[in-house]
Amino acid sequence: MPRKFYDGPQRDKPRENCAIFGVACDDIGYSVSKLLYSGLIALQHRGQEATGISLLETGGNIYTYKRKGLVSKVLNNRVLSKLWGNVGIGHNRYATTGAKEYSSSYYLQPFHFKNNEIEFSLAFNGTIPNYAELMKKLEDMGRVFVTNTDTEVIAQLIASLSIGTEDWPEILRLTSKFLDGSYAIIILTSEGDIYAMRDPLGFKPLCIGELKTGKRNLYFVSSESCGIDAVDGKFLRDVKPGEIIHISHQKDIHSEMVLRTNKTAICQFEYIYFARPDSIIDGVSVVEARMRLGMYLAKKDPILKNSEITDNAIVVPVPDSGRSVAVGYAKEAKLPYIEGLMKNRYIWRTFIMPGQNRRKAAVKEKLNPIKSVIEGKDIILLDDSIVRGTTMRQIVQLLKERGGAKRVHLRISCPPIISPCYMGIDFPTKSELIAAKFYNKYGDSYIEEIRKHIGADSLLYQTKEDLSRAITKSENELCRACLTGIYPLKSVEKIREIEDSIAKSRT
Ligand code: SF4
Repeated sequence: MPRKFYDGPQRDKPRENCAIFGVACDDIGYSVSKLLYSGLIALQHRGQEATGISLLETGGNIYTYKRKGLVSKVLNNRVLSKLWGNVGIGHNRYATTGAKEYSSSYYLQPFHFKNNEIEFSLAFNGTIPNYAELMKKLEDMGRVFVTNTDTEVIAQLIASLSIGTEDWPEILRLTSKFLDGSYAIIILTSEGDIYAMRDPLGFKPLCIGELKTGKRNLYFVSSESCGIDAVDGKFLRDVKPGEIIHISHQKDIHSEMVLRTNKTAICQFEYIYFARPDSIIDGVSVVEARMRLGMYLAKKDPILKNSEITDNAIVVPVPDSGRSVAVGYAKEAKLPYIEGLMKNRYIWRTFIMPGQNRRKAAVKEKLNPIKSVIEGKDIILLDDSIVRGTTMRQIVQLLKERGGAKRVHLRISCPPIISPCYMGIDFPTKSELIAAKFYNKYGDSYIEEIRKHIGADSLLYQTKEDLSRAITKSENELCRACLTGIYPLKSVEKIREIEDSIAKSRT
């Protein structure tokens, strides 16, 4: 991705940056382009700005087609009918910047690399914080860049390390030694193989699947298992952190090597918010993790001991992000679950609108409280996270003013977010995060101050311990840097030191 982590002060949710999907078929008379389309459609939630695919055409050429827009628009029937190849990879992208230069097709993926020695296409989800350093070294070695992206840095690094060898697993092993970042990468080679690689800490999800029909065998690699479901594939397993997988239309799927570390840093936000609920990530069902998050919130909730509230309470999710958590909470609390907020599905990107008044109007257009079920009730409102707090404040107001709620008790499945993400998630800056800002201002009473600011009658966040318990992974397996401020990558620590010293010099 272009190296910028956050694109402006408008949104109130972090954003995942990309999705990747690959297919290899052992029947050279069969085109996988429609399967790439189906996989990418299922992964649309991970990137909506642009999409692209690379296919190995008969004769060994790689053809890449990529455009701005949703999958259904870019890969329409007319385009798909012209794209032919039995092996291919695809990518969905989110914009991380509004800068003009980044709308050039060079900045879209897959990134198709070709020189006199090597040709391949690469699709990447993640970020490489030390990319500028690597770029400088590669430029000093005479490499010429056409973009300012970590994607191209990876491609140029691969090209450099491939001089004199065709041993792809070894090239990728060496590549990973230089990359201090979060990444899931798939590569289509001109020999018709796909290589999939996940960083040794396993920040980004990646999994493999297959479909054996009797007529032909198909092998898949996908950011999430819902992509494999969408092509009727059988989910086989997750790619392990640090693993390099070879997917060959001639030789099936096999693991080339696993570059081990003694701990992992799987992004906890995948379970809380990013991933589709029907996906399984690193052996854990996302919907079940979310329901457990709701259950643990209910187990610790003091208001459930107050019969004045419980006799009058309903559990309401913020659609769609709070739904599974609310189901888990309601089940544990033995309270009715009611979809008391109607979402208008035809309004896109509510949280992208600039300006407080426009955002407020947009929330009203997008969400409507159903007065007949809300009025006079104690609403236990469930959502996944509070980032800036602006949208949540408006939702609480809406429930009270338009819905006639008696009280609103806000329950959040993610602990307070106090630090930005430098691992490829598009996040607001620290000064915009309400929990960080209020902690600096109010110290230990910051949660009560957030409650007052949002206008809720009570506020309960998930604890970090219950978060790990709900995901069924230990602290040593998860990245929780946005909750703790402790980052698992050396290159991020360097960036933070620089940012801190800039911030200090300004005060
Ligand atoms: S900092 Fe937060 S959002 Fe970023 S990778 Fe870690 S857990 Fe995920």
